[in-house]
Amino acid sequence: MKPVYSETKKHKNLVIIGSGPVGMVSALMLKDHFEKVILLERQSKESFLRKHGFTFPIVFSPAAIKILENIGAWDAIKSERSEFFGVVIHKRIMGKEFEFTSAQDGVYSHWRNHIVAMLYECVQEHRIHIHFDANVEDIDFQNNICRESKLGDVPFDLLLGADGINSFTRSLMAKAHPTFAEGAFNLTLLDNWYAYRLPAKGTLRDKFGGGSRFLASNVYVDNLATHPSDKFRIVTTSMKQPSEEISVLIKHDAALDLKQVKELNESCFGQFVDSAQVLNEAWDAGYAGKFDQVQAPTFNLNAVLLVGDAAHGFESTGDLINMGIASIGSFCEIFNNSPSISEALHAYDETVGDSLRYYADFSFRRSKEKISAEVATIEFAARLGITSRHPSLFGIFEDDFEIRKYMQKYKRDLLKVKLMFFGIPIMLLLLKLFFPKRKNA
Ligand SMILES: Cc1cc2nc3c(=O)[nH]c(=O)nc-3n(C[C@H](O)[C@H](O)[C@H](O)COP(=O)(O)OP(=O)(O)OC[C@H]3O[C@@H](n4cnc5c(N)ncnc54)[C@H](O)[C@@H]3O)c2cc1C
Repeated sequence: MKPVYSETKKHKNLVIIGSGPVGMVSALMLKDHFEKVILLERQSKESFLRKHGFTFPIVFSPAAIKILENIGAWDAIKSERSEFFGVVIHKRIMGKEFEFTSAQDGVYSHWRNHIVAMLYECVQEHRIHIHFDANVEDIDFQNNICRESKLGDVPFDLLLGADGINSFTRSLMAKAHPTFAEGAFNLTLLDNWYAYRLPAKGTLRDKFGGGSRFLASNVYVDNLATHPSDKFRIVTTSMKQPSEEISVLIKHDAALDLKQVKELNESCFGQFVDSAQVLNEAWDAGYAGKFDQVQAPTFNLNAVLLVGDAAHGFESTGDLINMGIASIGSFCEIFNNSPSISEALHAYDETVGDSLRYYADFSFRRSKEKISAEVATIEFAARLGITSRHPSLFGIFEDDFEIRKYMQKYKRDLLKVKLMFFGIPIMLLLLKLFFPKRKNA
């Protein structure tokens, strides 16, 4: 296997807290720059590699695929995936059910557990050490030392905080940061969720499974319950993970308790399963969680950098993991062209970091449904050929996805649309004011 970067090793220690997809990709991409790389993972090896558990499909962007190819993990990752043919939105409008289909062949969804297992094989192949059951106690941001309960003081030249949305690294950074207040790094609650899985059988499979032509299909169900409520939204996804199942993710407002959510769920799916018992058993094996938004004003303090969900976790429409992997790709590019680690970190936070924060803010407004008008006008303008299309607004990636360029394009298109909708009428008004029609004599 070819190394991605063939430069000789320049630095001593790279420490990565968190061995999720972004932590492992970072280790594989940066390993040639360091004499020693260590990943500190909180979970035990068994729970880290577990095959069960809820997972939603992950559709990789071309940019993320390129990076996974470069580190030699892509062939193994793509060996187990589901093909789906598009997205169907079921919506109940004035008591009647409508179906909107956006069919697209050749879209593949991958499941997180398989991605983790395959990246782990790559990490092992390169003899990168993962220290499982890690208990990180503290980080000394001044002297570049990370304290772990069994390993003691671990020195680092660069430390990446890849420990997910509830990042401990981020909370330590928030406490130690001289410029920003601790509260500036807080999480904001977006939605509550409940997730469980149903066997894809019978009527349920016919309605939500996509039929026999496809291995799987994606179906979004919006207010299909007999008691529709705008505080309740279901997303179902049928895929092989590893058996054919329908993952059900229910997003709901905190005002609805789990008993009410369960009742709404029954009114939606009860009619499609063989018995109430099937639904009950599946429900009981599920679990509840929260979608949070990370708001970090910076990702960097001295030689510590937050990456992946730890830096910019938000409610995903399928772009979270892609953002994490693509931004590591951008970091490596900057790292390769920088004379020192501190300059690379500074340059990254000012460029890619800024775009990610803009995107996180955009995503926050999107999840609060505050940008429907913005999205609709851009889409309308794109159909008129005035702007380009922005498929990621709908969670679908058709083109390459480089965060900085993408956000610049989005900002430009937004300005164009604003000029078009507000600028032209204002100009006409000004023309009318300055050049009033001459009255006929
Ligand atoms: C229900 C659900 C649905 C999702 N759906 C999608 C989707 O449709 N599309 C998509 O792109 N993404 C989706 N994601 C998100 C996707 O899985 C993450 O974006 C992606 O895994 C981010 O990777 P990460 O490595 O940054 O963080 P994580 O995958 O969260 O990994 C963090 C790692 O750090 C470890 N860790 C945590 N704290 C510590 C600590 N103190 N010390 C040491 N280790 C620690 C954790 O055990 C974990 O292994 C979903 C996530 C969930 C939970």
